[in-house]
Amino acid sequence: MNIPFVDLKAQYAGLKGEIDAGIQRVLEHGRFILGPEVEEFETALAEHVGVAHVVSCANGTDSLTLALIAENIGPGDAVFVPSFTFTATAETVLLLGATPVFVDVDAEHFLIDCDDLEHRIAAVRKAGKLTPRAIIPVDLFGLPADYARLTNIAAAHDLFLLADAAQSLGAAANGRAVGGLAPATATSFFPAKPLGCYGDGGALLTDDAERAAVWRSLRGHGTGKAKYDVVRVGLNSRLDTLQAAILLTKLKVFAKEIEARDRLAKTYGAALEGLVKTPSLPDGMRSAWAQYTIQTNDRDRLKSRLGEKGVPTAVYYPLPMHLQTAYRALGGGEGSLPVTERLCGKVLSLPMHPYMDDAVAERILEAVLASV
Ligand SMILES: *Cc1c(COP(=O)(O)O)cnc(C)c1O
Repeated sequence: MNIPFVDLKAQYAGLKGEIDAGIQRVLEHGRFILGPEVEEFETALAEHVGVAHVVSCANGTDSLTLALIAENIGPGDAVFVPSFTFTATAETVLLLGATPVFVDVDAEHFLIDCDDLEHRIAAVRKAGKLTPRAIIPVDLFGLPADYARLTNIAAAHDLFLLADAAQSLGAAANGRAVGGLAPATATSFFPAKPLGCYGDGGALLTDDAERAAVWRSLRGHGTGKAKYDVVRVGLNSRLDTLQAAILLTKLKVFAKEIEARDRLAKTYGAALEGLVKTPSLPDGMRSAWAQYTIQTNDRDRLKSRLGEKGVPTAVYYPLPMHLQTAYRALGGGEGSLPVTERLCGKVLSLPMHPYMDDAVAERILEAVLASV
């Protein structure tokens, strides 16, 4: 028996009737671009999360890009991002000609370190070469960053706060769902994300109507009221109607799936605590558990032993952004982000999805116990 790392087939088996019918409806009405399901899904997600506006787009990377374009971020601007993240967070900054300034994370929760952030904002101001413009905290592995403190830092320095919630849709902080924790939130519907479609997809969330209107214009080439009078330079970045139809069905079971992920995380935690460093939840936080990531000094050996026992694992991320080939030129270099660099050698993510049955979880845990 092969244990899947993420089991999309099990999810489809449970939803097949409704997903197939949704796809069939789109094939029949034929409005493949911005068909009725797109707006329906945007409204349903806004309601689910408790935000006023959802603007869907082609993928999570574009959602970050669109939000930065809307703030006119470009050459000469500094955008503060963690280095312990997926490529997209920093890539989008560079593509707009702005400069990502990498910030360290905390070793406990893998989230942007607010003390280090303040130091780096001060350093950029002192150097006088770049204008601090935005912070993009990443809710890594599904856990929201410290938005209470980040909001204060952003306000104190007049910075745009954009949540990279590609991994954390479904999570919450003190009762407020991800999507409403920052003035702007970007997310992804990549298939393996907590809420995934069957291809690429993404969205931006906000309570600000003006901001949402600009995003909506930008995702459709920057059109204004008249289709062929473009009022700002935008992108072609729309969520396919087919993907929206699939997401509408998946959204109905999403809350239950997050609960199932949370149960699995608790099962893992109870069995592994003390043996390896298990992820912990700060008070008042709910994680979407995009990944269940442990830390151990013997990571590579544990990974290969688990592989031999048929348990797939993944390393997110083996190399921090600031040490990757395309980003080294930004400076920093080895030793500049010590916690991030250390974590890259210690992290290991175990299979995590809402459809794992107890027997499989048991097998995974036995394999880990026998391998550490
Ligand atoms: C997946 C991911 C993205 C990008 O999403 P895509 O839909 O793949 O473009 C951005 N940031 C983080 C942290 C991610 O995990």
